[in-house]
Amino acid sequence: MASSAHTRPLSDVEIRVKALESLLLEKGLIDQAAVDALIDTYEHKVGPRNGARVVARAWVDPAYKQRLLTDGTTAIAELGYSGIQGEDMVVVENTPEVHNVLVCTLCSCYPWPTLGLPPVWYKSAPYRSRVVSDPRGVLREFGTELAPETEVRVWDSTSEVRFMVLPERPAGTEGMSEEALAALVTRDAMIGVTKLKA
Ligand code: FE
Repeated sequence: MASSAHTRPLSDVEIRVKALESLLLEKGLIDQAAVDALIDTYEHKVGPRNGARVVARAWVDPAYKQRLLTDGTTAIAELGYSGIQGEDMVVVENTPEVHNVLVCTLCSCYPWPTLGLPPVWYKSAPYRSRVVSDPRGVLREFGTELAPETEVRVWDSTSEVRFMVLPERPAGTEGMSEEALAALVTRDAMIGVTKLKA
C-alpha cells in the first residue's frame, strides 16, 4: 500500500475524490472555506500535535527516546499513533553535531499519523530538488542558520519508510512539564527546517 503511494500517479479513487470535490463546490453543496478549515485542522492541529507529544515524551523519558530511535514505528504506536503513511517510521535525532532534514524527492511522502498532511512547500518541486543540492541554503530561507561544523543529513522518503525528526530540546526548558514541552514543538522542527526556541 505505502509502496505504491510513493511513485504512482493519482489513483482512481483520488481522481474521483478530486472530481467530486470540484462538483460539490460548483453546486454549492460544500463550502471551500469549510474544506480548507478541515484540511488546516489535519495539517496544523491534529497531525503535528501527535508528533509533538512523541517528541516531548522522548525529551522527558530517556528509555522512551531510546525505543523511539531504535524502532520508531513501535514507540510511536505506544502513544496511540499509527496508520497509513506511518507503517514504517524512522526517527532521526538532531544534535549540535548533526542536523537532519526530511524530503520526498519523488512526490510528497510524509508521516501522516504524527505530522498530519504535508505543507504545500514540502510538495513543491523547488524544495524537493534544492533541499538535496543546497540544504544549508534552503534552511537559511527558513531562518535556520547552522554552524559550519554541523553535519547536515537529508533523508529522502523511500517507498516504505517515513522519517520524522526529533528536534533538540531548547535550552531553558529544564523544569517544564511534558505537556508544556509538547506545546513548544512545531511541525517545521519535526521536518527539520527549523530549530525550536523556548
Ligand atoms: Fe513520495
